Amino acid sequence: MEFPGFLGNAPVKEALSAAFAAGRFPHALLFQGEPGCGKRTFARLVAQALVCRCKDRAPCGACPACVRAKAGSHPDIRVVEGSGATRSLSVDQVKEITADAYRAPEEAQVSVYLLFLGSRTLEPAQNKLLKLIEEPPAHGVFILVCQSAEQLLPTIRSRVQSYLLQPPSLEEAAAYVAAREKIPEERARELARLCGGNIGRMLQELAGGEEARAFAIAQAMAEGLLEPGEHSLLLAAASLQKNRDLFREVLSRLGMLFRDGLVLRAGGSAVLGGAPQLADKLGALPMKRLALLAPLAEEYRQKLDRNANMALLVTEFCVRLREAAGR
Ligand SMILES: [Zn+2]
Repeated sequence: MEFPGFLGNAPVKEALSAAFAAGRFPHALLFQGEPGCGKRTFARLVAQALVCRCKDRAPCGACPACVRAKAGSHPDIRVVEGSGATRSLSVDQVKEITADAYRAPEEAQVSVYLLFLGSRTLEPAQNKLLKLIEEPPAHGVFILVCQSAEQLLPTIRSRVQSYLLQPPSLEEAAAYVAAREKIPEERARELARLCGGNIGRMLQELAGGEEARAFAIAQAMAEGLLEPGEHSLLLAAASLQKNRDLFREVLSRLGMLFRDGLVLRAGGSAVLGGAPQLADKLGALPMKRLALLAPLAEEYRQKLDRNANMALLVTEFCVRLREAAGR
């Protein structure tokens, strides 16, 4: 089994390839991993491999089955997705899958069901799903996809082969996004650092433009400030040295995050910075420390308009931040 265009995750790929080659592919699998790590893309590739007619190199990408799988029109691959805010499966949806699953496949050797479970598939629906997995139809392969196995009943977890998908290395992610989006390597590397190599998030940041970029950098800097060494903070701030407008935007974002931390520390609840969890973490700093941080961001916003040496200014700001936070 091959995984064209899907980076990293060698252990998962090897395990699935070995099971496929040996003719003992599991009938129920679970792909879990953080949002943006490529779970759905990976699940679709596996489904394509399972219906591909070219068994020595599946998916071949060229046979009629592959072409239809890629177009989303293969009759033996069903994608089932929940609705509503949590995008979770309902009991009725699982009933429909069950009714469908016992018929023979139309073209392939198997019927593949991609079940995108969303964030909160309720117990009644999970119990129905459990029944189906416990007494699986002869030709059915069920691929469950969700963020974490923790959201599933232990009885389901014990009956699926579970695989954790992870972002590829930062270098791989940067090279992939640079080529795909035709952006400079340096910008791609910065994105990869900010997003931990998570390609989905990198693409989202790109689509969001400068404002989203500033927000991501401000968050990474605030996170870095809370860490013991100076390394993460300096790394997050590295791209500001060449972009005055970006630095200005980041400073205003940081100012809001720091103010939020202070407000939460003081027992308030007003959150302006758009990152309540991070503000909560910042709120763990002592009050007198927090009170220094927001004014510091404002001070550097003013300095920025007068000062020519950006590299020096960014480094100095990071040093002052760490001093103010007592790091
Ligand atoms: Zn094929």
